[in-house]
Amino acid sequence: MMKLKLYNTLTKSLEDVKPNSEGVVTLYNCGPTVYSHQHIGNYRAYANWDILHRALLYLGYRVHRIMNITDVGHLTSDEDFGEDKMEKGGRKLGTNDPYVVAEYYTKSFLSDMYRLNMLAPSGKAMDGDIDLAQLKEWGWIRATASIEPMIELIKMMEEKGFVYETKQAVYFDVSKYEEYTKLSGQRLEDKLVGVRDDVNVDQEKRHPADFVLWMKRYGEYSDHAMHWNSPWGDGFPGWHIECSAMGIEYLGGYISVHTGGIEHIPVHHTNERAQNFGALNKEVVELWVHNEHLQSKGGEKLAKSLGNAYTINELVDLGFDPMDIRWLLISVNYKIPLQFSLEALEGAKNSRLSLTSKLKNKMSIGSIQQGEVLEDFDNRFKMALADNLNMSEAFAVLIEVVKSREAVNDIFATVESFDKVLGLNLIPAVLKKEEKEDLPQAVVEVLDLRAKARESGNYAESDRLRDEIKNLGYIVKDTSNGQEVERIK
Ligand SMILES: [Zn+2]
Repeated sequence: MMKLKLYNTLTKSLEDVKPNSEGVVTLYNCGPTVYSHQHIGNYRAYANWDILHRALLYLGYRVHRIMNITDVGHLTSDEDFGEDKMEKGGRKLGTNDPYVVAEYYTKSFLSDMYRLNMLAPSGKAMDGDIDLAQLKEWGWIRATASIEPMIELIKMMEEKGFVYETKQAVYFDVSKYEEYTKLSGQRLEDKLVGVRDDVNVDQEKRHPADFVLWMKRYGEYSDHAMHWNSPWGDGFPGWHIECSAMGIEYLGGYISVHTGGIEHIPVHHTNERAQNFGALNKEVVELWVHNEHLQSKGGEKLAKSLGNAYTINELVDLGFDPMDIRWLLISVNYKIPLQFSLEALEGAKNSRLSLTSKLKNKMSIGSIQQGEVLEDFDNRFKMALADNLNMSEAFAVLIEVVKSREAVNDIFATVESFDKVLGLNLIPAVLKKEEKEDLPQAVVEVLDLRAKARESGNYAESDRLRDEIKNLGYIVKDTSNGQEVERIK
């Protein structure tokens, strides 16, 4: 079996993916915070990890994957104190019920994931209307459904002496973990810049880098809407604890690959790693894998304020097919910063349509029969995947197969096989009956002229235009519904 290598942020090197003792690759993806719609930048991460999941299956690994959904109100930045995101999202929706907010944006997220043809974390193809009560079976775990494991984990850290309590919160004591900044490579002094304000909020906090494990419903948070009982009083969990708790609870405390965007390295994943060590005294995650951002032409991060952080709905309204979006997001390796603009998306659309039209042209030679996957191309495709998900190479092999002079049936079989990883619905796009919207502009124009000629009784002109349409590759028939065209096979 070909071994898949990925780039480990912790060791700064390419390493083999290592399955657990039962031979299963355990995969944890940091998921969405459901207080607003996700934007195109967020979906780069999910698309990359969808490809990782599919590539592992294609190479013959068994996979157990989960993704968390952060539906506990946590705060507006990586800091522990600040405005509650869920409450902020509620104001936009005109409700102050955080459960309503979470449900609304969870559905929005699932609908985008479905349209982008992502596998559910469980490995199943998604359903367009997933019942939120069944989320766990699909591999999505909501933070609000995992409060118990979080409390258990804090207790374990407390027993081992990594924790202290103030009137306001329970903190992880970073001075107890020597390797605290190893993942980011930052010095602790440099890490303090962003967390200074917290000290003003809680005078009892010992070190500015200590982070909240459990926030009490006290002081600033005495009215916090979501709250649970705990050994430290009524309150709610800090953000970072949910990923450690779920990884340990559902993946048995051994995570082959833990993914997230690079923004998670200095705080969220640094804290997760500290919690894992505090609870189990060991490294839980084998490979920490991070994707670069989708960025604007100028190299900035996409942002609502810059007007370039489009939602999937907005892009579909602009006339893009979700598969154009998917093509763009998966077309390069996850470690390469990817530029996003409408022109770039237009480019992805043209590439996709050019590929499907080449396949259509091959098909017009004859009908498609069962073919054989072309082994040489398939091996090269697998090698590209195994090489740290070298997607530009994988796409190059795809395009080469389509252009090759191999038997048409075998080309189709090979493309269909590659599409188990790419998830671009390439063959269905080729086989689907041509709809009127897909007609070339030239044909549409001549059809309009012909309709006018017939209305004015100019049948000689109508016949001439019929021949012109034939030259463009279509046969026109006059029916009770008006003109109907069929492509000449
Ligand atoms: Zn996380």
